Amino acid sequence: MKERITPHLRALINAGSEAIKNQFVKMKQTITKKKFPTLDPLGEEEKYSPVKGLVHKYTRVALIKVSNRCGGHCQFCTRCREIGSADGDLTKEDIINIINYIKEHTEIYEVILSGGDPFFTPNVTFTFLELLEPIKSVKVIRVGTRLPVHAPESFNNVRIQEVLERVEKLNKFTNPVYILIHFNHPDEITPSVERVIWMLRQKGITLLSQTVFLSGVNYFPNNDSDIETSVKILDILFTKLHCLGIIPYYIYRCDYVNGLEHFVVPFFKEVKIMHKLEGLLPGLALPQYVIDAPGGRGKIRVPSLSWFKHIPHTFRDIDGKVIKI
Ligand SMILES: *Cc1c(COP(=O)(O)O)cnc(C)c1O
Ligand code: SF4
Repeated sequence: MKERITPHLRALINAGSEAIKNQFVKMKQTITKKKFPTLDPLGEEEKYSPVKGLVHKYTRVALIKVSNRCGGHCQFCTRCREIGSADGDLTKEDIINIINYIKEHTEIYEVILSGGDPFFTPNVTFTFLELLEPIKSVKVIRVGTRLPVHAPESFNNVRIQEVLERVEKLNKFTNPVYILIHFNHPDEITPSVERVIWMLRQKGITLLSQTVFLSGVNYFPNNDSDIETSVKILDILFTKLHCLGIIPYYIYRCDYVNGLEHFVVPFFKEVKIMHKLEGLLPGLALPQYVIDAPGGRGKIRVPSLSWFKHIPHTFRDIDGKVIKI
């Protein structure tokens, strides 16, 4: 994946943010003991993509990849195999195929617009919103984005405003719309980002966030107080989000994608960090800690250390398959 850094992110890096730098500036590959074998551990391409641009992995939820394009390129991205390429651009026919699949599969009641970043390609997103609205079986729409973090000023763009008007209308009259924004560090919440959040809230849209445990961003190894430092960073992040009206929804373990080895935090460190956060944060500010099962199906909720001395490294995915991380 090529480097792609917006002027907004560049300014934060120049002002000295290590956390932003380590997410967007390509690092020289450090030698790691383990190498992850695959670029697609979640099987999005082969197993769960019935038509181009659609991932149908959970019975009632379908995820549409509106494109492979994003405002900035997050170097830890699960979909780094494809982000920035034109391969994900959808033709009219692709869009029709996706919509027909969703119409035929009436068990799908939630549709996630993802990608790539749906707000980075507002025209395609607008089309999807138009086509999804009349489908009776689709009740809930979720939009996953990072554009508020990559380029908050772009929310003044006319096409994005038009998408937001559509979202506002859908949310009021037909389908609840949830916007899910990806944040990993408090440095990402600048005054201009806060203005975007307030603008979205004024439209009555429910806001959620997701976060990834990342070494060099919200966790720093080789440090005696590594756990405490990480707890401090995430405590500030989730409290800030809560105070801005965003509900922190998920915190993920970094996926086991080939090339991302250096971003992965030791599992038991994450478990301990979460346990400390449980004691600090109000429930509304505490995200669920999940692992997207490598080679399996489903998000696995990692149990709290309140219940065990050690959390084992094996678990069962939602189909009962035993997986070792
Ligand atoms: C995470 C994910 C979803 C949504 O899962 P929730 O647990 O409902 O948030 C849907 N489809 C895919 C492919 C996903 O990775
Ligand atoms: S915005 Fe999301 S999809 Fe795009 S590069 Fe970043 S993590 Fe990947």
